[in-house]
Amino acid sequence: MHTAYITHPECLKHNMGDWHPESPLRLRAIDDRLHAAHLFDYLAHHEAPLVHRSQLLRVHDAAYIDFVEASSPYDGTRALDPDTSMNPHTLDAAYHAAGGAVVAVDLVMSKWAGNAFVACRPPGHHATRNQAMGFCIFNNVAVAAAHALEAHGLERVAIVDFDVHHGNGTEDIFRDDARVMLCSTFQHPFYPHCGADTASEHIVNVPLPAGTTGPAYREAFTQRIMPRLEAHRPQMLFFSAGFDGHREDDMAQFGLVEADYVWITEQVMGVAARHAEERIVSVLEGGYDLSSLGRSVAAHIKTLADL
Ligand SMILES: [Zn+2]
Repeated sequence: MHTAYITHPECLKHNMGDWHPESPLRLRAIDDRLHAAHLFDYLAHHEAPLVHRSQLLRVHDAAYIDFVEASSPYDGTRALDPDTSMNPHTLDAAYHAAGGAVVAVDLVMSKWAGNAFVACRPPGHHATRNQAMGFCIFNNVAVAAAHALEAHGLERVAIVDFDVHHGNGTEDIFRDDARVMLCSTFQHPFYPHCGADTASEHIVNVPLPAGTTGPAYREAFTQRIMPRLEAHRPQMLFFSAGFDGHREDDMAQFGLVEADYVWITEQVMGVAARHAEERIVSVLEGGYDLSSLGRSVAAHIKTLADL
């Protein structure tokens, strides 16, 4: 079965300023690299549809969705938080990003695709139930996980968040929902300055120091995440796929390389094979150095696609 690749041209029009690291060039870099690596033609391409309000309401408060809609500017940009703003295209981009994550679940659950990568922006894992933050507006991976539970009747899913920042929004949304296991590795202490002491039975937080490189990362993942994932027996797995822990990405101070992202992908594919009929949906989060982002996403997708 193919790997689905889901994106939408509207996601290129969300622009928070030419200085902003979360830029449309990120999607261009991924697209370029998939072509250069001759991966593009091996993927099943789908346009991300608009999300339905009912799908957002599974993880966001109605008042928050109303607030985002009301904040959409006719021109210029409007700030939602110190790092996150909207231009006239942002609302549509955010709807497509969340809708892309939903359709990824539908494609994989219906076996039209073996697994899926959602290359949309804005990213999502910092967005809480009622707050935009850290470049994120709607929590795309949370919308997808909730869709797998509510629309497809799954009982247990897991989200593996390997972005260099803690997936605080995802934790906020699923704090009281033991059906969703969140496994988040992140640089600590670091933005968003939480997650080090909020673990629970189904929230597996793995703070790691600045300077963490592949061997230490893999050791922590093997010791602290893999046993918990296996015990949870997730019926579908999600990646919050952030590549800002790459050693060439100066957003943070991890020293991961493409081979580490391949390794993480393989570990989770193993869990998916054992418990989840190989079902994986991977949703783009961070990654701001354009060259290493493109190479890392290509390596991740190549692994997912078994190419
Ligand atoms: Zn990040």
